[in-house]
Amino acid sequence: MPSPMTKQNVAPAEAVASIAVASSPPLFAYTPPLSVRKKCLPQIELDGGKAVSWWLDSMRASSPTRAKTAAATGPLADAVFNDLSDLRMRHPSALSNFDQIASASNGKQIVMFLDYDGTLSPIVDDPDSAFMTNAMRKAVREAARNFPTAIVSGRRLDKVINFVQLAELYYAGSHGMDIKGPEKSRHAKSKDAKGVLFQPASEFLPMIDTVHRTLLDRTKSTPGAKVENNKFCASVHFRCVDEKNWGTLFEQVRSVLKGYPKLRLTQGRKVLEIRPTIKWDKGKALEFLLESLGFANCRNVMPIYIGDDRTDEDAFKVLEESGQGIGILVSKFPKETNATYCLQEPSEASAMTDEPSLVKDFLVRLVEWKRRQTKAVSKV
Ligand SMILES: [Mg+2]
Repeated sequence: MPSPMTKQNVAPAEAVASIAVASSPPLFAYTPPLSVRKKCLPQIELDGGKAVSWWLDSMRASSPTRAKTAAATGPLADAVFNDLSDLRMRHPSALSNFDQIASASNGKQIVMFLDYDGTLSPIVDDPDSAFMTNAMRKAVREAARNFPTAIVSGRRLDKVINFVQLAELYYAGSHGMDIKGPEKSRHAKSKDAKGVLFQPASEFLPMIDTVHRTLLDRTKSTPGAKVENNKFCASVHFRCVDEKNWGTLFEQVRSVLKGYPKLRLTQGRKVLEIRPTIKWDKGKALEFLLESLGFANCRNVMPIYIGDDRTDEDAFKVLEESGQGIGILVSKFPKETNATYCLQEPSEASAMTDEPSLVKDFLVRLVEWKRRQTKAVSKV
C-alpha cells in the first residue's frame, strides 16, 4: 500500500509528450493516457499534420465515454479491465483506504483544495449547466467549517463562485490566476488571508479579451463549439462538437494562437484552454494559498487536493514533490497521475437524482473523523 508521503508514480521522461507552437518552446508537458503513450513522439510541433492526428488520438483516449466502456467486449474489455486494475493497485481508493489518510492527517491541520468541474459537478454537455447538487454543497460547507477550504478551477472567478455559492471558501479561478479569500475566515493563521486577492497575470487581461473575441469569430462555423472567456484564460469546449469536426476546430484554435506567442494551449477534458505563458498554475495557487493561510514551511499541515483533470496534476505534483499532502484523482478511467489515491467521478445520473457521489462521501467522512478527533481531544 503506498504511503501518501512517498514520491512515486513519476511518469518516465520518454512518456511525456509536449505540444509546441512553431519555433516556440514547448507549450505544456502532458502525460498521455496509458493507451496513447506508446504511439507518441516525445515532442510534437503544432505546425505539422502530425499535431492534428496526435491531438485527435489523445482526445479520444483521454475522454472515453461511458457508452464505449460499457460496450467494450473481448480484447478491449480485457484491456480496460487490466488498466483499471493497474490504476487501483497504484492509486487505491481514497475511501477504501480512508484510515490510512486519517492516520497521516492525525495531529495536522488539514487544508482542503477542490477542483470544480468533474470533481464537485458532473461533466455535462453545456458548461453553463455544470451545477453541483445541494448535497454536495452541504458537504463542502461542512468541510469549510472544519478546515480551510479552497476551490481551484479553470473557470473565471465570478462563475465558479456563482456555481458554488459558499461565502466561507477561498476561490482560485482561471487556473489559479484569480485568487480571492472569504470575507470571514475562522481558520487563517495569517490575518492577511481574509482579504487575500492575487492576480499574477493581470497584464494579460486585454490580450485574453481580444483572443476570446477572435476565437468566437474563428470557431463560429464549427457546430457545437463553445468559447468561454475565463478572464485570465479562454476555453474552447467541444463537448457538443461532432468528433468528425474536432480536427477542424483544432486548426481554427491553432490559427488564432499563432499570432500570440505569449499564450499557450493546454488540453483538458473536452476543452482546449488558452493561457498566458507565465509560470503559474493550480500548483502555484495551492502554494500561494497555503502561504496566505500562514502554513508556509509548516510541517504540521496536511493539504488534500481533489481533482479530475490534467491541470490538477500541477497541484498533485507540488504535493508529491514536497512530500507533504495527499493528491486524490477523480477518475473512472486509467490515467497516469501524480496523485496518490483516486475516487470515482460524480456521474451524470447523480446530478439529476442528487445521489451521493464518492467525492461527497469522502468529504463527509473526513468531517466526521475530524469531529470525532476534536471530541476525543476535548475530553482529555
Ligand atoms: Mg475538473
